[in-house]
Amino acid sequence: MLNPDGSTTRGRLIRDREGIKFEEGEDSKEEFLFSPGLCNSHIHTGDSVIKDPPYLPLEKLVSPPDGLKHRILESKGDEEKITAISGTIELMRYSGTSMALEFREEGIRGIRIFHRAVNRIRNPPEFKVLSRPSSTPEGEELLKVSDGFGMSSTRDHSFRFLEELRKLCRKEGRLFAIHAGEKDGDDVDPALALDPDILVHMVKASPSQLRMAMDEHIPICVCPRSSVFTGNIPGKKILGMLGEYDSLLIGTDNVMINAPDMFREMEVASKLFFRDDYAVLRAVFNPYNLFQKKIEEYLIFDLKSPNFFNTSRIASSFVRRCSANDLIGLIGKNGFLLRRKVFKE
Ligand SMILES: [Zn+2]
Repeated sequence: MLNPDGSTTRGRLIRDREGIKFEEGEDSKEEFLFSPGLCNSHIHTGDSVIKDPPYLPLEKLVSPPDGLKHRILESKGDEEKITAISGTIELMRYSGTSMALEFREEGIRGIRIFHRAVNRIRNPPEFKVLSRPSSTPEGEELLKVSDGFGMSSTRDHSFRFLEELRKLCRKEGRLFAIHAGEKDGDDVDPALALDPDILVHMVKASPSQLRMAMDEHIPICVCPRSSVFTGNIPGKKILGMLGEYDSLLIGTDNVMINAPDMFREMEVASKLFFRDDYAVLRAVFNPYNLFQKKIEEYLIFDLKSPNFFNTSRIASSFVRRCSANDLIGLIGKNGFLLRRKVFKE
Protein backbone atom coordinates (compact mmCIF):
# COMPACT_ATOMS: atom_id res chain seq x y z
CA MET A 1 0.00 0.00 0.00
CA LEU A 2 1.27 3.45 -0.90
CA ASN A 3 0.54 5.66 2.10
CA PRO A 4 -0.17 9.39 1.79
CA ASP A 5 3.27 10.12 3.30
CA GLY A 6 4.96 8.18 0.48
CA SER A 7 5.91 5.17 2.60
CA THR A 8 4.70 1.69 1.68
CA THR A 9 3.21 -1.05 3.85
CA ARG A 10 2.87 -4.75 2.96
CA GLY A 11 -0.51 -6.36 3.24
CA ARG A 12 -3.70 -7.10 1.35
CA LEU A 13 -7.10 -5.60 0.58
CA ILE A 14 -9.95 -7.28 2.42
CA ARG A 15 -13.63 -6.89 1.65
CA ASP A 16 -16.14 -7.31 4.45
CA ARG A 17 -19.61 -6.08 5.31
CA GLU A 18 -18.33 -2.57 6.03
CA GLY A 19 -16.55 -2.29 2.69
CA ILE A 20 -12.96 -2.51 1.50
CA LYS A 21 -10.06 -2.12 3.85
CA PHE A 22 -6.34 -2.68 3.88
CA GLU A 23 -4.90 -5.22 6.28
CA GLU A 24 -1.19 -5.28 7.08
CA GLY A 25 0.61 -8.59 6.69
CA GLU A 26 4.26 -9.38 6.04
CA ASP A 27 3.43 -12.70 4.35
CA SER A 28 1.72 -11.07 1.34
CA LYS A 29 3.44 -11.29 -2.06
CA GLU A 30 4.87 -8.11 -3.60
CA GLU A 31 2.70 -8.27 -6.68
CA PHE A 32 0.41 -5.28 -6.74
CA LEU A 33 0.52 -1.72 -5.51
CA PHE A 34 -2.55 -0.23 -3.87
CA SER A 35 -3.21 3.42 -3.20
CA PRO A 36 -6.17 5.37 -1.86
CA GLY A 37 -8.38 6.84 -4.61
CA LEU A 38 -7.05 10.20 -5.83
CA CYS A 39 -8.58 13.54 -4.82
CA ASN A 40 -8.93 16.39 -7.28
CA SER A 41 -9.42 19.50 -5.14
CA HIS A 42 -10.30 21.97 -7.86
CA ILE A 43 -12.12 21.33 -11.11
CA HIS A 44 -14.56 23.22 -13.30
CA THR A 45 -16.29 20.48 -15.30
CA GLY A 46 -18.70 23.10 -16.69
CA ASP A 47 -16.36 24.13 -19.48
CA SER A 48 -16.04 20.58 -20.84
CA VAL A 49 -17.86 21.87 -23.93
CA ILE A 50 -14.89 24.05 -24.92
CA LYS A 51 -11.65 22.12 -25.14
CA ASP A 52 -8.25 23.61 -25.87
CA PRO A 53 -8.78 27.28 -26.73
CA PRO A 54 -5.84 29.29 -28.06
CA TYR A 55 -3.23 30.62 -25.58
CA LEU A 56 -4.81 33.86 -24.33
CA PRO A 57 -4.25 36.09 -21.30
CA LEU A 58 -6.17 34.94 -18.24
CA GLU A 59 -8.82 37.70 -18.33
CA LYS A 60 -9.62 37.09 -22.00
CA LEU A 61 -9.97 33.40 -21.28
CA VAL A 62 -11.90 32.90 -18.06
CA SER A 63 -12.91 36.19 -16.40
CA PRO A 64 -16.67 36.54 -16.00
CA PRO A 65 -18.73 37.78 -17.77
CA ASP A 66 -16.88 38.48 -21.05
CA GLY A 67 -14.03 35.95 -21.10
CA LEU A 68 -14.06 33.44 -23.98
CA LYS A 69 -15.20 30.67 -21.66
CA HIS A 70 -18.31 32.54 -20.52
CA ARG A 71 -19.24 33.63 -24.02
CA ILE A 72 -19.07 30.03 -25.26
CA LEU A 73 -20.95 28.70 -22.22
CA GLU A 74 -23.74 31.18 -23.01
CA SER A 75 -23.99 29.87 -26.55
CA LYS A 76 -24.30 26.15 -25.67
CA GLY A 77 -27.50 24.30 -24.81
CA ASP A 78 -28.04 22.27 -21.63
CA GLU A 79 -27.99 18.88 -23.36
CA GLU A 80 -24.67 19.61 -25.01
CA LYS A 81 -23.21 20.57 -21.64
CA ILE A 82 -24.61 17.52 -19.85
CA THR A 83 -23.12 15.16 -22.44
CA ALA A 84 -19.73 16.87 -22.21
CA ILE A 85 -19.71 16.92 -18.38
CA SER A 86 -20.72 13.28 -18.07
CA GLY A 87 -17.83 12.37 -20.39
CA THR A 88 -15.49 14.32 -18.12
CA ILE A 89 -16.79 12.52 -15.04
CA GLU A 90 -16.20 9.17 -16.70
CA LEU A 91 -12.67 10.21 -17.58
CA MET A 92 -12.03 11.26 -13.97
CA ARG A 93 -13.19 7.87 -12.84
CA TYR A 94 -10.99 5.93 -15.23
CA SER A 95 -7.98 7.98 -14.23
CA GLY A 96 -8.41 7.05 -10.57
CA THR A 97 -10.28 9.99 -9.05
CA SER A 98 -12.44 9.05 -6.06
CA MET A 99 -13.18 12.48 -4.66
CA ALA A 100 -13.42 15.93 -6.26
CA LEU A 101 -14.34 19.51 -5.54
CA GLU A 102 -16.43 20.84 -8.38
CA PHE A 103 -16.50 24.61 -8.86
CA ARG A 104 -19.79 25.21 -10.59
CA GLU A 105 -20.69 28.31 -12.53
CA GLU A 106 -24.06 29.39 -13.96
CA GLY A 107 -25.99 29.51 -10.67
CA ILE A 108 -29.04 27.26 -10.19
CA ARG A 109 -29.05 26.26 -13.85
CA GLY A 110 -25.42 25.15 -13.56
CA ILE A 111 -26.20 22.95 -10.54
CA ARG A 112 -29.12 21.31 -12.37
CA ILE A 113 -26.92 20.59 -15.38
CA PHE A 114 -24.22 19.08 -13.16
CA HIS A 115 -26.62 16.82 -11.25
CA ARG A 116 -28.10 15.55 -14.50
CA ALA A 117 -24.60 14.80 -15.83
CA VAL A 118 -23.60 12.94 -12.63
CA ASN A 119 -26.79 10.87 -12.78
CA ARG A 120 -25.76 9.52 -16.15
CA ILE A 121 -22.67 7.85 -14.69
CA ARG A 122 -23.03 4.53 -12.87
CA ASN A 123 -20.34 5.00 -10.23
CA PRO A 124 -19.33 8.66 -10.18
CA PRO A 125 -16.58 9.92 -7.85
CA GLU A 126 -17.78 11.61 -4.69
CA PHE A 127 -18.23 15.29 -5.45
CA LYS A 128 -18.39 18.28 -3.20
CA VAL A 129 -20.13 20.88 -5.31
CA LEU A 130 -19.45 24.56 -4.80
CA SER A 131 -21.88 26.81 -6.63
CA ARG A 132 -21.60 30.40 -7.79
CA PRO A 133 -24.58 32.71 -7.22
CA SER A 134 -25.08 36.07 -8.88
CA SER A 135 -27.33 37.45 -6.14
CA THR A 136 -27.91 36.84 -2.43
CA PRO A 137 -31.40 35.31 -2.91
CA GLU A 138 -29.93 32.95 -5.51
CA GLY A 139 -27.18 32.16 -3.00
CA GLU A 140 -29.78 31.18 -0.40
CA GLU A 141 -31.40 28.84 -2.91
CA LEU A 142 -28.05 27.40 -3.98
CA LEU A 143 -27.04 26.45 -0.45
CA LYS A 144 -30.01 24.06 -0.42
CA VAL A 145 -28.56 22.14 -3.37
CA SER A 146 -24.78 22.58 -3.05
CA ASP A 147 -22.01 22.26 -0.47
CA GLY A 148 -21.08 25.94 -0.49
CA PHE A 149 -19.80 28.64 -2.81
CA GLY A 150 -16.77 28.67 -5.09
CA MET A 151 -16.26 32.28 -6.11
CA SER A 152 -13.90 33.72 -8.70
CA SER A 153 -11.53 36.58 -7.81
CA THR A 154 -12.63 39.48 -5.56
CA ARG A 155 -12.00 41.56 -8.72
CA ASP A 156 -15.13 40.06 -10.31
CA HIS A 157 -17.69 40.80 -7.56
CA SER A 158 -18.53 43.62 -5.18
CA PHE A 159 -16.92 43.05 -1.81
CA ARG A 160 -20.23 43.58 -0.02
CA PHE A 161 -21.84 40.82 -2.04
CA LEU A 162 -18.97 38.46 -1.20
CA GLU A 163 -19.31 39.34 2.49
CA GLU A 164 -23.01 38.48 2.37
CA LEU A 165 -22.23 35.14 0.73
CA ARG A 166 -19.51 34.46 3.28
CA LYS A 167 -22.00 35.11 6.08
CA LEU A 168 -24.56 32.80 4.49
CA CYS A 169 -22.05 29.94 4.30
CA ARG A 170 -21.07 30.42 7.92
CA LYS A 171 -24.70 30.43 9.01
CA GLU A 172 -25.49 27.24 7.09
CA GLY A 173 -22.20 25.50 7.89
CA ARG A 174 -21.11 25.35 4.24
CA LEU A 175 -17.79 25.89 2.49
CA PHE A 176 -16.72 29.27 1.16
CA ALA A 177 -13.90 28.99 -1.39
CA ILE A 178 -12.42 31.75 -3.52
CA HIS A 179 -9.81 32.17 -6.27
CA ALA A 180 -6.96 34.51 -5.32
CA GLY A 181 -3.38 35.29 -6.27
CA GLU A 182 -3.66 33.61 -9.65
CA LYS A 183 -1.94 36.32 -11.73
CA ASP A 184 -0.85 38.80 -9.03
CA GLY A 185 -1.35 39.50 -5.36
CA ASP A 186 -3.90 42.33 -5.77
CA ASP A 187 -6.94 40.20 -4.92
CA VAL A 188 -5.31 38.33 -2.05
CA ASP A 189 -5.83 40.80 0.84
CA PRO A 190 -9.58 41.17 0.17
CA ALA A 191 -9.86 37.37 -0.21
CA LEU A 192 -8.12 36.88 3.15
CA ALA A 193 -10.43 39.47 4.73
CA LEU A 194 -13.31 37.10 3.90
CA ASP A 195 -11.69 34.34 5.97
CA PRO A 196 -12.34 31.69 3.30
CA ASP A 197 -12.36 27.93 3.91
CA ILE A 198 -10.30 27.26 0.76
CA LEU A 199 -8.08 29.52 -1.36
CA VAL A 200 -7.50 28.52 -4.97
CA HIS A 201 -4.14 29.29 -6.70
CA MET A 202 -2.19 31.78 -4.51
CA VAL A 203 0.86 31.18 -6.71
CA LYS A 204 1.31 34.92 -7.30
CA ALA A 205 0.61 36.00 -3.72
CA SER A 206 3.51 37.69 -1.94
CA PRO A 207 5.40 35.63 0.64
CA SER A 208 3.83 37.68 3.45
CA GLN A 209 0.31 37.18 2.05
CA LEU A 210 0.97 33.48 1.75
CA ARG A 211 2.33 33.38 5.30
CA MET A 212 -0.82 35.09 6.53
CA ALA A 213 -3.04 32.46 4.85
CA MET A 214 -0.91 29.66 6.26
CA ASP A 215 -0.98 31.14 9.77
CA GLU A 216 -4.76 31.03 9.50
CA HIS A 217 -4.49 27.36 8.39
CA ILE A 218 -6.55 28.02 5.27
CA PRO A 219 -6.21 25.10 2.82
CA ILE A 220 -4.61 26.28 -0.43
CA CYS A 221 -5.27 24.51 -3.71
CA VAL A 222 -2.70 24.92 -6.47
CA CYS A 223 -3.36 23.92 -10.08
CA PRO A 224 0.10 23.57 -11.65
CA ARG A 225 -0.90 22.81 -15.26
CA SER A 226 -3.41 25.64 -15.26
CA SER A 227 -0.80 28.09 -13.92
CA VAL A 228 1.67 26.93 -16.56
CA PHE A 229 -0.94 27.35 -19.29
CA THR A 230 -1.73 30.93 -18.25
CA GLY A 231 1.95 31.73 -17.74
CA ASN A 232 1.63 32.28 -13.99
CA ILE A 233 4.46 30.13 -12.72
CA PRO A 234 5.35 30.89 -9.10
CA GLY A 235 8.82 31.84 -7.94
CA LYS A 236 11.09 29.59 -5.90
CA LYS A 237 10.28 31.15 -2.53
CA ILE A 238 6.52 30.73 -2.96
CA LEU A 239 6.96 27.15 -4.20
CA GLY A 240 9.16 26.34 -1.21
CA MET A 241 6.54 27.68 1.19
CA LEU A 242 3.66 25.89 -0.56
CA GLY A 243 5.59 22.62 -0.75
CA GLU A 244 6.04 22.59 3.01
CA TYR A 245 2.48 23.60 3.83
CA ASP A 246 0.52 20.83 5.49
CA SER A 247 -2.84 22.01 4.09
CA LEU A 248 -1.77 22.10 0.45
CA LEU A 249 -4.22 20.70 -2.13
CA ILE A 250 -3.91 20.03 -5.87
CA GLY A 251 -6.51 20.34 -8.61
CA THR A 252 -6.75 20.14 -12.38
CA ASP A 253 -8.84 23.37 -12.79
CA ASN A 254 -10.71 24.06 -16.04
CA VAL A 255 -11.47 21.06 -18.24
CA MET A 256 -11.28 23.58 -21.07
CA ILE A 257 -7.53 23.78 -20.41
CA ASN A 258 -6.56 20.42 -18.89
CA ALA A 259 -7.65 16.82 -19.06
CA PRO A 260 -9.12 16.01 -15.63
CA ASP A 261 -6.38 13.48 -14.94
CA MET A 262 -4.58 13.64 -11.60
CA PHE A 263 -1.67 11.52 -12.82
CA ARG A 264 -0.78 14.19 -15.36
CA GLU A 265 -1.22 16.86 -12.70
CA MET A 266 1.04 15.04 -10.25
CA GLU A 267 3.87 14.78 -12.75
CA VAL A 268 3.84 18.51 -13.53
CA ALA A 269 3.37 19.39 -9.84
CA SER A 270 6.49 17.45 -8.98
CA LYS A 271 8.80 18.18 -11.90
CA LEU A 272 7.93 21.80 -12.55
CA PHE A 273 6.65 23.06 -9.19
CA PHE A 274 7.76 21.32 -6.03
CA ARG A 275 10.61 18.99 -7.00
CA ASP A 276 9.28 16.93 -4.11
CA ASP A 277 7.15 13.82 -4.76
CA TYR A 278 6.15 13.55 -1.12
CA ALA A 279 4.71 17.08 -1.03
CA VAL A 280 2.64 16.19 -4.10
CA LEU A 281 1.33 12.96 -2.57
CA ARG A 282 0.38 14.70 0.67
CA ALA A 283 -1.51 17.35 -1.30
CA VAL A 284 -3.37 14.77 -3.39
CA PHE A 285 -4.53 12.78 -0.35
CA ASN A 286 -5.08 15.76 2.00
CA PRO A 287 -8.86 15.97 1.37
CA TYR A 288 -9.29 12.73 3.33
CA ASN A 289 -8.07 14.62 6.41
CA LEU A 290 -9.63 17.91 5.53
CA PHE A 291 -13.13 16.50 5.06
CA GLN A 292 -12.62 13.70 7.59
CA LYS A 293 -13.42 11.10 4.97
CA LYS A 294 -12.65 7.45 5.38
CA ILE A 295 -10.78 5.89 2.46
CA GLU A 296 -13.43 3.80 0.73
CA GLU A 297 -11.82 3.16 -2.63
CA TYR A 298 -8.43 1.87 -3.65
CA LEU A 299 -6.52 1.95 -6.90
CA ILE A 300 -4.64 -1.16 -7.98
CA PHE A 301 -1.44 -1.18 -10.04
CA ASP A 302 0.63 -4.08 -11.29
CA LEU A 303 4.20 -3.81 -10.02
CA LYS A 304 5.33 -5.82 -13.08
CA SER A 305 3.99 -3.18 -15.47
CA PRO A 306 6.66 -1.39 -17.54
CA ASN A 307 6.28 1.83 -15.55
CA PHE A 308 6.84 0.21 -12.14
CA PHE A 309 9.26 -2.55 -13.10
CA ASN A 310 12.78 -1.74 -11.78
CA THR A 311 11.60 1.36 -9.95
CA SER A 312 14.01 2.66 -7.34
CA ARG A 313 11.28 4.48 -5.41
CA ILE A 314 7.64 3.50 -5.71
CA ALA A 315 6.31 6.85 -4.44
CA SER A 316 8.35 8.74 -7.05
CA SER A 317 7.29 6.46 -9.90
CA PHE A 318 3.68 6.88 -8.81
CA VAL A 319 3.93 10.68 -8.90
CA ARG A 320 6.24 11.25 -11.88
CA ARG A 321 5.64 8.37 -14.25
CA CYS A 322 2.42 6.52 -13.54
CA SER A 323 -0.49 7.16 -15.89
CA ALA A 324 -4.14 6.18 -16.06
CA ASN A 325 -3.00 3.33 -18.33
CA ASP A 326 -1.14 1.73 -15.42
CA LEU A 327 -4.29 1.52 -13.38
CA ILE A 328 -5.53 -2.06 -13.53
CA GLY A 329 -8.26 -1.84 -10.92
CA LEU A 330 -10.41 0.48 -8.90
CA ILE A 331 -12.21 -1.16 -6.03
CA GLY A 332 -14.78 0.32 -3.65
CA LYS A 333 -17.53 -0.78 -1.35
CA ASN A 334 -19.58 -1.94 -4.33
CA GLY A 335 -16.76 -4.14 -5.63
CA PHE A 336 -14.65 -3.54 -8.74
CA LEU A 337 -15.49 -0.32 -10.55
CA LEU A 338 -12.71 -0.89 -13.05
CA ARG A 339 -10.76 -4.01 -13.90
CA ARG A 340 -8.11 -4.38 -16.57
CA LYS A 341 -5.68 -7.05 -17.68
CA VAL A 342 -2.63 -7.83 -15.58
CA PHE A 343 0.84 -7.64 -17.12
CA LYS A 344 2.58 -10.97 -17.70
CA GLU A 345 5.95 -11.76 -16.15
ZN1 LIG B 1 -10.67 27.70 -10.95
